[in-house]
Amino acid sequence: MPMNRSWRQADPQVYKIMQGELERQKTTLMLIPSENYASRAVMAAMGSVFTNKYAEGYPGRRFYNGCEFYDELEQLAIDRATGLFGADHANVQLHTGSQANMAAYYALLEPGDKIMALTVATGGHLTHGSPISFSGQFYESHFYSLDPETDRLNYDMILEQVKEVRPKLIIAGYSAYPRIIDFRKFREIADEVGAYLMADIAHICGLVAAETHPTPVPYADVITSTTHKTLRGPRGAMILCRQQYAEQIDRAVFPGIQAGPLMQIIAAKAVCFKEAGEFGFREYQRQIIRNCQALGQTLQEQGFTLVTGGTDNHLLLVDLRNKSITGRETADLLETTGMIVNKNLIPGDPAPATETSGIRPGTPGLTSRGMKEPEMKLVAQWMARAVHEGRDNPEVLEEIRGEVRELCEAFPIYEDL
Ligand SMILES: *Cc1c(COP(=O)(O)O)cnc(C)c1O
Repeated sequence: MPMNRSWRQADPQVYKIMQGELERQKTTLMLIPSENYASRAVMAAMGSVFTNKYAEGYPGRRFYNGCEFYDELEQLAIDRATGLFGADHANVQLHTGSQANMAAYYALLEPGDKIMALTVATGGHLTHGSPISFSGQFYESHFYSLDPETDRLNYDMILEQVKEVRPKLIIAGYSAYPRIIDFRKFREIADEVGAYLMADIAHICGLVAAETHPTPVPYADVITSTTHKTLRGPRGAMILCRQQYAEQIDRAVFPGIQAGPLMQIIAAKAVCFKEAGEFGFREYQRQIIRNCQALGQTLQEQGFTLVTGGTDNHLLLVDLRNKSITGRETADLLETTGMIVNKNLIPGDPAPATETSGIRPGTPGLTSRGMKEPEMKLVAQWMARAVHEGRDNPEVLEEIRGEVRELCEAFPIYEDL
């Protein structure tokens, strides 16, 4: 039967592309802070027979027959998520972080209601009200700003801005903010104007699970998150919420914006929630932060400017304006050496989003490989050397490429793949 052929036999072409990607992952440094290496167990769950069935609905309330193991599976994932984060309720069916945000708005708001967040240019996400996203078109989006002096959240300033707008929903949680978020302060601000508080912890979810970043659970009405960033699970998302919103949220997800859940991904989410509750995970998250601080410190020693002067979490925002090189040029240059970073807007960036004046390196991936502070120093020195000496010097870049390759070999991934 053709369905019993191996992947390699069935489609050598796609298999070969995957082997190329596996080789790329093995021999380059993953410095994009929203990426990570899922465990073999997580990947196995994603490739399992749970992919074969419709399970619309929720445990005990399915619209298809034959769901006994799907009920058991999803309930386990829900229980593990609520246990891990101390939340009242979890919906684990969301396909992506963007859909989690869409479902949260759909549950709590009417079209045209006011939402308030940070702009993409200052660290927010497209789904936080950007005019090129549904969120800026279906809702009336407003933005609070970072303190122009410090590039940090200034809660007194935010309160003033919120009082002017009086939004129905305030969003706290970002894609490019290197500092702690004070969710308690955001709760106080939301209460001043009777707004909902939504925490979007897509980036810091693993840090929150390990209590290396303060949790929003006691303060936020609704929490949205991806599961594939610092949490190191499958590509996907979830919503945590207070019991009073549980039914609204579940109805907004299904049948509101999704139909059949990806049960193989829910299986992988269950596995990653278990892994995140294990002892080693807490130490992993602590090491991510130590590594990020070490990376940042060495970059500063090499004359690089960090937005806010450093980091409390898993990412750095590097302001490249004193190096006369753009974010795009830097990311392309570093790619030739095997260091994969992404360009990023910095607060007040004079360059367009396609060029930018910054990069946003992070350490979840390197820390998953077992690297520690000494390796971060090396990586920062290589980054500096590439920018300072490599721009018209392919030999320097080639030399760094060799050193990156050696480091990758010393900290291997997926050895038996
Ligand atoms: C990554 C991210 C998302 C969206 O995740 P996708 O799964 O890519 O849709 C939402 N919010 C924030 C803050 C993010 O960083």
